[in-house]
Amino acid sequence: MPTRKMILIFLGPPASGKGTQAEILGKNLDIPVISMGELLRYECNHHSKIGEKIKEYLKKGELVPDDIVQNILLRRLEKKDTKKGFILDGFPRRIKQVHYLENIKKIFLSSSDLLIVFYIKVSDQEAKARVIDRRVCECGAAYHLKYNPPKRRGICDVCGKKIYRRSDDDPKVVSKRLRDFHRRIKPIVDYFSRQGVLVEIDGEKKIEEVQEELKNRLNEILNSA
Ligand SMILES: [Zn+2]
Repeated sequence: MPTRKMILIFLGPPASGKGTQAEILGKNLDIPVISMGELLRYECNHHSKIGEKIKEYLKKGELVPDDIVQNILLRRLEKKDTKKGFILDGFPRRIKQVHYLENIKKIFLSSSDLLIVFYIKVSDQEAKARVIDRRVCECGAAYHLKYNPPKRRGICDVCGKKIYRRSDDDPKVVSKRLRDFHRRIKPIVDYFSRQGVLVEIDGEKKIEEVQEELKNRLNEILNSA
């Protein structure tokens, strides 16, 4: 396993599987996965002042403002478990946040360290089909009614609570989310591509196959750098 510090970034449309892929890779590399969506939902579920504000944006299928996102993220990155590096899932979401990421890089990486951006690609059609049947639980467990259903209908395998559809997975807002995603992602992808750190991954294969490709591409980079 690599000794250099790494920041790995996962980009991809809703339901591209990037969260799942990030989790598996993070475990293998023994670095934490920092999911921006989860950090935000945590604030919401704990009814903090900031959480209430965030809820309003999410309900409308809108993005949470940069200053809120950045504060929450930096607070998380200050924890000790990021010493060897970390994976970012769901950040940066728009080009302005890329500049903020440059600052994070300055704080956390030296010149021999690595920043790699994985772009998990999935067609709109596939993304929509996946989102509509996605369910989650308060405990963090995630399900898909077709591909990964709970053992008892509507009940979480892990904790026994009721599973539910996230409000931003509502079919009515999914098309808007996808449109927004493509508009936002283009300049970000272009930016990382120019930096030579972008790795495109076909996200429509099986989970294990996608993970295999990720690992292979990562090893190629580590061996050549
Ligand atoms: Zn649960």
